[in-house]
Amino acid sequence: MQPHLLPLPPSTELAWSRRRWVSSALGATAALAAMAANVHAAGTQGPQRRMPVIFIGHGSPMNALADNAFTRRLAEWGRALPRPSAILSVSAHWLSRGATGVGVQAQPRTIHDFGGFPQALFDVQYPAPGHPALARETAGAVRQTPVVATEQWGLDHGTWTVLRHLYPKADVPVFQLSIDYDKPPAFHYAVGRDLAALRDQGVLVMGSGNVVHNLRATDRATPDGRVASRPWAQSFDDAVKAALAGRDDRALLDHARLPGADMATAMPDHYYPFLYALGAAAPSERARTVYEGFQSGTLSMRCVQFG
Ligand code: ZN
Repeated sequence: MQPHLLPLPPSTELAWSRRRWVSSALGATAALAAMAANVHAAGTQGPQRRMPVIFIGHGSPMNALADNAFTRRLAEWGRALPRPSAILSVSAHWLSRGATGVGVQAQPRTIHDFGGFPQALFDVQYPAPGHPALARETAGAVRQTPVVATEQWGLDHGTWTVLRHLYPKADVPVFQLSIDYDKPPAFHYAVGRDLAALRDQGVLVMGSGNVVHNLRATDRATPDGRVASRPWAQSFDDAVKAALAGRDDRALLDHARLPGADMATAMPDHYYPFLYALGAAAPSERARTVYEGFQSGTLSMRCVQFG
């Protein structure tokens, strides 16, 4: 699965986008204030509770159609989570260079960003609406870097293959934030920290990748299981689990020093969504393991919830 690279916007376009932000962010803030006032007036609901943060190891796109231990766990998880006002997905499959993008479509398209799979997978649609106002609010919340509003992308398979199980009715608005692949781990963690404020507005921040992911070293014939088919994958996943248990975020940021990293995060595109989730979680929040195990021998399907 080749990730999509959002081309670097020319500086004038970026500047234009930033100027546009000023007016659009003001509009979004007014709209949100009006929404809050309506909720208050209706008296149907108390203040929005702080949403948890989740990270999902998504594995093969075929999980969208599968009925297995992983997808059944996702379905249970979706029923247990509080209902969000929107889902902000940071997927390993939307990488950008020199800029961070946010999807502002009212109706994001379902992107089938893969090849060589059965037609049934290409036929899947995940028709969740977007949330342009909250997407623009997100751009304002990110202090690390300017965020470019775009309608270029949509919902890629890192997002819809798992949301299909978590929220099968596709009735919760979803929007995506891209990963600027030129930036180091600390940047992704810091953007995640900026996203934490959205949790108080009912936004579920979701990272979707795999903490161990190397498509050149999978064992596709290996059945799904608790144990990896190769020692480096097991060592890296164990080290992540141990660091999470102690919230040793420094060790997790320095992923290249964890055992097995040469193979496990040789290309860190699937690891970076995990850093956004980690950053969006307060340092005091415990990481709860929701699912662990491996698909195709070496893909860690580790899923965690903070808060
Ligand atoms: Zn993937």
